[in-house]
Amino acid sequence: MDTTNRPLPSPTDITEPFWRAAREGRIDMQCCKHCGTLQFYPREICTQCMNDTFDWKTCSGLGRIYTYTINHRAANAYMRGRTPYAVAVVELDEGVRLMGNIVDTTLDAITIGARVQAVFETVNDEITLIQYKLITDLPN
Ligand SMILES: [Zn+2]
Repeated sequence: MDTTNRPLPSPTDITEPFWRAAREGRIDMQCCKHCGTLQFYPREICTQCMNDTFDWKTCSGLGRIYTYTINHRAANAYMRGRTPYAVAVVELDEGVRLMGNIVDTTLDAITIGARVQAVFETVNDEITLIQYKLITDLPN
């Protein structure tokens, strides 16, 4: 797929472990070595205790739709070919929220609280985006 006009993240030294994990099909979150808080996005310090040492914890990739919107007007030229599309804030089972598209579904099936599983959209050698699919075979 031509991604010439697609806005993409630019990994930094701090965020590179997150993007490397995504390339490998995982969601890894910063986990504060001092207080155990998971945080997204990756930062230099813990938002809870200001400590600056972290491990990386692999999340399950399972979560719920915290909120969402259906975009009928594309946010950029690249997404024009994908309208209408769903943008959601997903709360992972580990308690961290992050944003992505809900893919491979009819938009009417999307509801707040619906169970989702992360899927990984490889864009190029550097960037793999984390998206979500509805899962209906797990209890709410
Ligand atoms: Zn902390």
